[in-house]
Amino acid sequence: MRIDVVTIFPQMFKAVEDCGMSRVAIERGHLELGLWDPRDYAEDNYRRIDDRPYGGGPGMVMQAPQLSRALRAAKLEADGKVVYLSPQGQTLTQEKVRELAGGPALVLLTGRYEGIDQRVLDAEVDEEISIGDYVVAGGELPAMVLIEAMVRCLPGVLGNNESIDAESFSNGLLDWPHYTRPEEFEGRSVPSELLGGNHDKIRRWRLKQALGQTWLRRPDLLKDKYLSDEEVSLLREFKIQTSEQGQESSQ
Ligand code: SAM
Repeated sequence: MRIDVVTIFPQMFKAVEDCGMSRVAIERGHLELGLWDPRDYAEDNYRRIDDRPYGGGPGMVMQAPQLSRALRAAKLEADGKVVYLSPQGQTLTQEKVRELAGGPALVLLTGRYEGIDQRVLDAEVDEEISIGDYVVAGGELPAMVLIEAMVRCLPGVLGNNESIDAESFSNGLLDWPHYTRPEEFEGRSVPSELLGGNHDKIRRWRLKQALGQTWLRRPDLLKDKYLSDEEVSLLREFKIQTSEQGQESSQ
């Protein structure tokens, strides 16, 4: 997949190029990253890309001509959908990550200051995506969040392809708890179901925990989810065990 990012801070993307799974994805040819600095498309010696807002008020606005030229140069390289990272966009979900990671190319537009001249957004942007209901200073970190989430979905990037399907949100449930050695840590033991290698017992324990954790922490995810007979009965068991544990701890 090719991802082009329009940003006035291309150096921030060293983190994507040099670290973790995205570095490996680039090295193995799963990901190609292009960076486009609107300052390179400014026409004055100061490489200016912002100006005061029409109508007054605080802050600066990123100017349309420089931004449009940078965006169009990026699109010439790989004609992907243009996504503007914006607090006013649709909140990012795992489903959206998978959808975007399924395309051959994507152009990410990142803002700074008060944002970008609306005319660029009207003319050039296909979709706006937010990473949550809060405001950060620029679109670079949101773009990196999206890139890292997409990279994990690219075929061949994750060593074990199973792990992505078992993760939080992939099947509409949160993940189950994980344990590794030592078996005993400061008086806390690994659940007995995970020891002894009984695959069906392990599968049922994990499914019960995933259902239970979702019910406890994100009941909204269960609202419209179809549950099989086995899932209904595992969730019932989880609820009974949780209420028994609650009664024990209040005695
Ligand atoms: N004036 C804007 C508003 O109130 O909606 C906030 C602008 S913000 C300081 C500057 C840039 O950061 C935005 O243009 C956008 O690219 C990025 N940004 C900030 N919060 C974001 C979020 N939650 N999701 C995605 N991008 C965000």
